Amino acid sequence: MKLRIGQGYDVHRLEAGRPFVLGGIAIPHTHGPAGHSDGDVLIHAICDALLGAANLRDIGYHFSDKDPQYKGMDSKVFLRRVVEMVRECGYEISNIDATVVLEMPKVNPHVPHMQEVMAGVLNIRPEDISVKATTSERMGFVGREEGVAVFAVALLYKILDGSARI
Ligand code: MG
Repeated sequence: MKLRIGQGYDVHRLEAGRPFVLGGIAIPHTHGPAGHSDGDVLIHAICDALLGAANLRDIGYHFSDKDPQYKGMDSKVFLRRVVEMVRECGYEISNIDATVVLEMPKVNPHVPHMQEVMAGVLNIRPEDISVKATTSERMGFVGREEGVAVFAVALLYKILDGSARI
């Protein structure tokens, strides 16, 4: 078996009146992530972790934030395309683990719903995608509620036959 690990990181500014989209769902809040797409920072970090594990560059390389076709785009579209690219390389997802760094709104009550939605897009089991939440202890841009950051890792695997190149 061939294993490959990847990591992803993303940050978005929070702006008043924007919908708070995270992990493929909308969470009620006064502010939401700014962005060319829907600003789903969790999905963006997971896309980069998956792309990194497969050595397929990064999300901005495939889905430019200058491209008008992606304006306001549901980031689940990016996630679906990324997992297709990973599978075209012969890899399957072993598991994904992500940490959301955010003061408000609270993420934990929404984690099971996010797991269900993202697992559905990726065609994996919800237990294979972990979402954790922490704050920044009121320090820095996260602490001032100016932004949200996400770290993610993904592990891919490929079952090799005797002739496969690793
Ligand atoms: Mg982003």
